Amino acid sequence: MKRLDIGALLMAMERAKLWRMKSNVILVTIDCLRADHLSCYGYERKTTPFIDFFASKGMMFENAFANGPFTVASFPSILASAYPLEFHNLLPLSQDATLISEVLQKKGIRTAAIHSNPYLSAFYGYNRGWNYFQDFLYSTSNRILKRDYIKQSIVRHLPQRILKLCESKVLHKLKVFLGLEYSPYVDAETITRYAIAWLNRNKKHPFFLWVHYMDLHEPYWISDIKFEQRYSREVSRLSRVKILNNVLNRKWSSKSIRDVIDVYDDKLYYIDKCIKRLFHFLDSEGLIENTIIILTADHGQEFLDHGHFGHIARFYDELLHIPLIIFGSSIERQADRRLVSLLDIAPTILSFYDITMPDDYRGHNLISNPTNTFVISEAPHNEKGVYISGHRIFPSTIRTYAIRTENWKLICQEKHGKLYNLELYNLEKDPKETKNVLEKEKEKTEELRSIIEQHILWEKKMRSASKEKLQRRIRKLRTQFISTRSNRPSRTHTCSSKNHSVILLHRGLIIKVGFRSLRSPA
Ligand SMILES: [Zn+2]
Repeated sequence: MKRLDIGALLMAMERAKLWRMKSNVILVTIDCLRADHLSCYGYERKTTPFIDFFASKGMMFENAFANGPFTVASFPSILASAYPLEFHNLLPLSQDATLISEVLQKKGIRTAAIHSNPYLSAFYGYNRGWNYFQDFLYSTSNRILKRDYIKQSIVRHLPQRILKLCESKVLHKLKVFLGLEYSPYVDAETITRYAIAWLNRNKKHPFFLWVHYMDLHEPYWISDIKFEQRYSREVSRLSRVKILNNVLNRKWSSKSIRDVIDVYDDKLYYIDKCIKRLFHFLDSEGLIENTIIILTADHGQEFLDHGHFGHIARFYDELLHIPLIIFGSSIERQADRRLVSLLDIAPTILSFYDITMPDDYRGHNLISNPTNTFVISEAPHNEKGVYISGHRIFPSTIRTYAIRTENWKLICQEKHGKLYNLELYNLEKDPKETKNVLEKEKEKTEELRSIIEQHILWEKKMRSASKEKLQRRIRKLRTQFISTRSNRPSRTHTCSSKNHSVILLHRGLIIKVGFRSLRSPA
């Protein structure tokens, strides 16, 4: 008689239990989507007719906020319910962060991620726990990468002067004028097509699918995507060159920013249509009844609201206020005014599978009705407000924090344990955050400042624990390396374990340490 495999049996029982519970979740995240540009969040343009429809049938959170103002700072919160500054480094993603995909995969749920944001790629360690991970980073079928490869091959053989011309702003502008520029990201239609293909292959099993759309991210080229131009029809070729000029020189005219907003709104309408296609597929396959869809964004986008364009380490609501909608047959319809953050998404997803959340998750399950009294957002950055990938979080790194309660927001910077550049806003009287009332509201400032200080101390402890773990891993790998390569001459070598690799120059001397897995699982 064939021997019974207890492990496999338990796994099958677990799967059957989950299947009876009929819990599948699709997490849809949209890069750079600020809440006030969706029509269901009060925007005067009808940018999101389909999202409006399902928001009206599900839970729509009016006060949802990002825990970081750019991708690298906010995704640890979305996928690992962690504060961005609890770890010793943001990129690559810390080994201490427990991705929701890892938790779900262990329970036998099929997991898939489809996106084209390089900061969330396998290269930076975001591929942990996925049965299918498509980041389009090394895909040979990607036309952009193919084109770049061909371009690079040609460019490599050109004389130096022509090479310089290729890199020049003039040629870049000419390409934009002629409509030859291509978006560096994969469009929403392709992402949706991949999502539907994966669902088709896996619809008979409990699943978790994450799709991330990049269409709202700059650069705002309009030549390469077939979106309907409802607002941006007037954006001429010359205007497009002007937009590029503004991006390069960081000097904006009000006409150019209006043109950018027109393209942004049109692209949002285009994403809305793609999401509708995804829903239609779920409906046609009978999956809509047992699937919960969560829609949100990693951060917003600034259109000179506070004098800047894009999304760097700034903490006003054009960057932090994001949409959050939960839709599903078991979800009660309501407009929810609770203060919530991206940290709450992973615990909520786990609750749909009836899985207890790991101890290191910082958020709450939104279905069990908790109330946050404040939300903290934070990011490390340089003097220009930019995070440079690969940077460790040193005491000298500038860190900006924002704490928000229902009616107040305090923004401050911290370096070497000192808080400076404090700003306080009364959100009830001044929702656009134009008047710093720090001097007038000393008591409120002190109250919020003390919460931030405690949070900073807690994070410091977490970081040093994370650093110690990292050093232990390095020591272990180093020992392994020396024992396996002790007889080789001193050259650069690499030594790898499951997800770790160490690069050494001389025997025993570490010049670079990486914790990456370059290969995504099949
Ligand atoms: Zn982003």
